[in-house]
Amino acid sequence: MNKIELLAPAGNLEKAKIAILYGADAVYIGGKQFSLRSRASNFSLEEMKELVDFANRHQAHVHVTVNMLPHEEDLEGLDDYLCALDRIGVHAIIVCSPSIMMRAKELGCQYEVHVSTQHSSTNSKALSFWKEKGMDRVVLARECQMAQIEAICQQNILPVEVFIHGGMCISFSGRCVLSNHMTLRDANRGGCAQSCRWKYHLMDQDKECSDPSNLFSMSSKDLQAVDQIEDFIRMGVASLKIEGRMKSAYYLATVVSSYRYLIDQIYKNGKATTEDLQRVKMEISKAENRPTGSGFYKGLPGYDVQLYQDHDETVTQEYVAIVLDHDPQTKMATLQVKNHFLPYQDLEIFGPHIQSTTVHVDAIYDENDLELKVCNQPMQIVKTKWEGPIEKNAMIRKIRVV
Ligand code: SF4
Repeated sequence: MNKIELLAPAGNLEKAKIAILYGADAVYIGGKQFSLRSRASNFSLEEMKELVDFANRHQAHVHVTVNMLPHEEDLEGLDDYLCALDRIGVHAIIVCSPSIMMRAKELGCQYEVHVSTQHSSTNSKALSFWKEKGMDRVVLARECQMAQIEAICQQNILPVEVFIHGGMCISFSGRCVLSNHMTLRDANRGGCAQSCRWKYHLMDQDKECSDPSNLFSMSSKDLQAVDQIEDFIRMGVASLKIEGRMKSAYYLATVVSSYRYLIDQIYKNGKATTEDLQRVKMEISKAENRPTGSGFYKGLPGYDVQLYQDHDETVTQEYVAIVLDHDPQTKMATLQVKNHFLPYQDLEIFGPHIQSTTVHVDAIYDENDLELKVCNQPMQIVKTKWEGPIEKNAMIRKIRVV
C-alpha cells in the first residue's frame, strides 16, 4: 500500500521549499494564469521549473492549480500554458473547468489531472464520471462526512484527496457568489473578497435587530482534522491536503511538520496514541490564529464550528528567527531575525529533523560583533552561541505560556 501523501500549499518559492523540507510529500502552487487565489504571489514558469527541480531532488511532487472557471475570453493562451507546464515536468494539475481538463488530455500532457474540490464531488457516481473522462484523482468536496468518504474509498474508483487543515467557506465550496454580488470580484476566477467575514447590520424591515456595537459576520472555524488522520489512512485516502496558499512560511513549517510527525507515528506504530494527538494539537496551536473545528467530518456542522462574530486573523509574533547557518566547532549560529526578541532567555527551536526543544540563548551579536540589547529589526543577521539541537532552516520561536 502506498503511504498517504501529505500535500501542502505554497504561495511562493521560499514557502514551497520550506514545506518540502518540513515533510510535505507534495506542494500545490498557482501559476500566473488560470489559477484562483489571485492575491497569492503566484509562480512564474521559471520559478515553477526551479521548484520542480528542487522537489525532484527531495522525492516530492509539485501540483499546479489551474482551477479558475474561465469565461470565453479567458481561454486564450490555454494550450501554450498547459504544454509549458508539461515541459517543466509538474506532476499534476488541479482543475475545475471541464474545458481545461479535457484540453490537457487532448494535448497529451503527461501530468496527472486532478478534479478540484471546486467541483463539489460528493459521491462515488461523480468519481465514476471523472474516471470515464480520464481524470486521475478527485479532491472531494469539503462538505463530505467521514462515513461518506469511507463509502467512496471502498469502491476504489479513483484516488481520493481530502482537506485536513485550514480555512473553510461558510458557503458550499465553489458555489458561493457572495463576493461576485457584493464587489463584482468573481470567487471562481480568483477574486473572492471574503464578503462573508465582513461586519453586517441585521435588519428586519427598517428595524435593526443586531447590537450595533457587536455587528454580525459569518465565518466557519478553520478545519483541523488531527483526530481523523488515522481513519483516513485506514480508509485508503490517497492524499491529505492542507489549505492556505496565503499563509506564512512559519505557519507552513509548523502545520506540515506536525502532520508529518503524526502520519509517521501512525505508520510506525499502527495507530496514534493520545499523547501523539495532544502533542500534535499543541504544536499546531503555536501557529494557529483562528479557532478550529472538525468541519463536516463529525456530521453536519453545528453552531459550535461557526463564528458569527468578529474573529479576524491576527498576525502571530511568536516566530522570531530562522537558522541560516551554524558551526559545529564553535557552536556559533547565524540567524535571520523575523520578529522582536531579547537575548538571555529560553527560546524554542524546531526544524525539518528537530522536534520542538527549549534552548537557553545567551548574548546575541550583530554582524560586526557588537552585542545587541534587543533583536528588533526584521531580516537582520545576528549571531549567538547555540547549545542545543540546531540545523539549517530550523525556526526559533518564543515559548508560549499556556
Ligand atoms: S465569500 Fe466567503 S463563503 Fe463565499 S467564497 Fe468567499 S470565503 Fe467562501
